Amino acid sequence: EAFEDFKINKQLHYAIEDLGFEKPTPIQAKSFPVIMSGRDVVGIAQTGTGKTFAYMLPILQNLKFSTQKHPRVLIMVPTRELVIQVEEEINKFAKYINVRVAAVYGGVNMNTHHQLVAQGCDIVVATPGRLYDLTLSRALQLKQIKQLVIDEVDVMLDLGFRFQLTNILEILPPRRQNIMFSATMTDDVDLFIQDFFKAPENISV
Ligand code: AMP
Repeated sequence: EAFEDFKINKQLHYAIEDLGFEKPTPIQAKSFPVIMSGRDVVGIAQTGTGKTFAYMLPILQNLKFSTQKHPRVLIMVPTRELVIQVEEEINKFAKYINVRVAAVYGGVNMNTHHQLVAQGCDIVVATPGRLYDLTLSRALQLKQIKQLVIDEVDVMLDLGFRFQLTNILEILPPRRQNIMFSATMTDDVDLFIQDFFKAPENISV
């Protein structure tokens, strides 16, 4: 399969060329059409398979330019390192798109993040703990979220983030697309999916 097989807009095509990606990876070829269709998705994929771009391309393609304050896309990952890595990936893919990304994680002064989200953003990339704190202090409103990504959900549950995750999912608008990636399918992950996902499409490579 080729990138041309998918309805990818010009700005993203230019970014793909700049990055030197020749063709979609297997997880990307399977994920693009399903995520573009708006269905809930559960993907089983390891790091290194290109899973970040597998969900980012359809999200960036779908994201219309906006100046509104509240984010429309929420990406949750287990660690600060991963937040930084995902933010960097988004900035590469979105080189020719006007998109505002806010990256928030623990260990940084709360005021810094209050100021950051007060500027407004389209996409929030966050660890569950800091995100939960920002919503509790009302610094961040999640009522405009249309797409939710939870990456490495197995690691997140292992790290004990179930409480924060559950609380965040409960304040998100019910009409949204859920996208989840996990390296493994554990009983914990399966229970989590049953609680929060609607007839997800399963993808693995
Ligand atoms: P990930 O699994 O998301 O951590 O991605 C692993 C690496 O593969 C990253 O450095 C990506 O930039 C790169 N990558 C993603 N998609 C492609 C592709 N279609 N062709 C070549 N490299 C890619």
